[in-house]
This record gives sequence, C-alpha cells and structure tokens, in this order.
Amino acid sequence: MYARDEVHTLEQARLAGLGRASRDLYQLLSATNAAQPADLLRRLQCKRGGEVTLSTVHHGLLALMRAGLAHRVAHHGYVRCALGEAAHTPAFLVCEACGAAGEHDASGDIARLRAVLGRRFVSPGAELVLSGICARCQGERVSHLEAG
Ligand SMILES: [Zn+2]
Ligand SMILES: [Zn+2]
Repeated sequence: MYARDEVHTLEQARLAGLGRASRDLYQLLSATNAAQPADLLRRLQCKRGGEVTLSTVHHGLLALMRAGLAHRVAHHGYVRCALGEAAHTPAFLVCEACGAAGEHDASGDIARLRAVLGRRFVSPGAELVLSGICARCQGERVSHLEAG
C-alpha cells in the first residue's frame, strides 16, 4: 500500500510520459462513472477548442490504459483507475440506477475462472462487469418503501 500522496506522485510520474491529450483526458475521466469516447470528445473540445478529433480521444485513452491509469468497462465506456498501484485485473460493479462503476481487484477471481475454463474459452483481456444496484441506490429504494 502507498500513502495517498505517494499514489499521487506515481500518477504524476506515469502521466508525465504521456501526451497532452492523455493528460487532459485523465483529468476528465472519473473513477466512479464511465464516460463514452463521444462524450469525452465533446468535453475535450470545450476545454481545448476544435483541434481535437475522435481519433485523438481513442489514442489518448489507449495510452492511458497502457500506462495502467484507465480502464474500459464493456458497454459503458472508460473510467479512471481507482486502484492505481500494482498491476491488477479489474472487476466493475455497475449500478443500473445511477451508472456508478465501482472498481475491485479481481486478479485472483479471473485466474480461477481461467483455470476452470481451461482451453474451452480463451479470453486474454478478460474483465468482469457485474450489473446491479449500488449501496447508495439500495438505501434510496429502502427509504422510498418506508415512505410509501
Ligand atoms: Zn484499476
Ligand atoms: Zn447507484
């Protein structure tokens, strides 16, 4: 584990090796809600003017993922890595009500799944995305029920 400001320094070191588009995208990405490339393009254009294209966004996101600073959440878009630190295989818990995408390290789970599947199904870039209702929204549901 790293102290909070050490994590910050690590991020800064990784970001320093990347282009301007990646650094700007990293600022726009959230660790809790996934964003689609078209959405990021619009926000980047607001920030920098018309010089940015969708391919700038895709290249920037790819560089961020290679540096371990962002992840793609299947069907939902991109998030900033919430775990940082060492290499990990993320699992995302995506809330159907508010869209929040919580990240968990599922390295061990994916390894077990690979062992079970063997050669029947090969998925080198496997990531887990679970849909459901987050704790915050569950709380809101409960209070709705209590009120009614
Ligand atoms: Zn991560
Ligand atoms: Zn929620």
